[in-house]
Amino acid sequence: MQFDIVTIFPGFFEGFLSNGILTRALSNGIASVAIHDLRAFTHDRHKTVDDRPFGGGEGMVLKPGPIFECFESLNLTPKATRDSAKETVILLSAQGRPFTQTIAHELAAVERIVFLCGRYEGVDERVNDLLCDRELSIGDYVLSGGELGAAVIIDSIARLLPGVLGNPDSARFESFGTHHAPEPHTPGLPPASTNSAGGLLDYPHYTRPADFRGHSVPDVLTGGSHEAVRRWRRERALEKTLRNRPDLLEQATLTEEDRRTLNRLRNSSPKL
Ligand code: SAM
Repeated sequence: MQFDIVTIFPGFFEGFLSNGILTRALSNGIASVAIHDLRAFTHDRHKTVDDRPFGGGEGMVLKPGPIFECFESLNLTPKATRDSAKETVILLSAQGRPFTQTIAHELAAVERIVFLCGRYEGVDERVNDLLCDRELSIGDYVLSGGELGAAVIIDSIARLLPGVLGNPDSARFESFGTHHAPEPHTPGLPPASTNSAGGLLDYPHYTRPADFRGHSVPDVLTGGSHEAVRRWRRERALEKTLRNRPDLLEQATLTEEDRRTLNRLRNSSPKL
């Protein structure tokens, strides 16, 4: 998987690329990242990348010239004939489609992804029309640049690439895991961590010590019953989703047991 980042702030990515999961992906050769400084594709003394907007109004707009020259240096297939399952160009934009875990899974199968980071009021729209395949937003708020958005998307994709996470199941069964319906528990075996699958939020996690400053972990987690743990985790995942993201329940894969649990939770805590 190759990531290319086009930016006017190449230094922004130094810390991001040298810590955590991404470092592992880069050092194992699972992913590579190339950063392209837009100012290297300017031709004036001031390395100008922006200009005033036609029609008037506030702020400045990233000019098309340096962006087109930069893209020409990347040897991408022209947009009209590009196979976006292999190569895709993403414009980071507050006006883009919301980025989701489903899109992260989709992008994790692409071979090369180019990110164009906007600044100021954004980029000249001809860049979007002629060079970019997708316009993505990382949330309903306005950032000062697309660099954070590119970092967010790269991080969420990199952890899905085979060999990056120590335990691949960590990326299978977690919040927003719409790819997997909840799996029934096989008696006698420890429960697979499937209890947040089906598009719910994850269940709460606890670790040692069992008693921390007088606050103990829920008894069920130390009681030794796999089935009781499975039920408890599933119920907590449903409860968290109902409380924090009830919208997810509309698309979630729910069992009859889940629906009964949700009715009980709604009746017992009317605030949920
Ligand atoms: N004038 C734009 C608007 O109102 O939609 C905002 C431009 S913003 C100040 C500058 C750049 O930050 C954008 O071109 C984009 O690359 C990036 N950006 C801002 N908000 C973003 C978001 N929610 N998701 C992704 N990128 C964002």
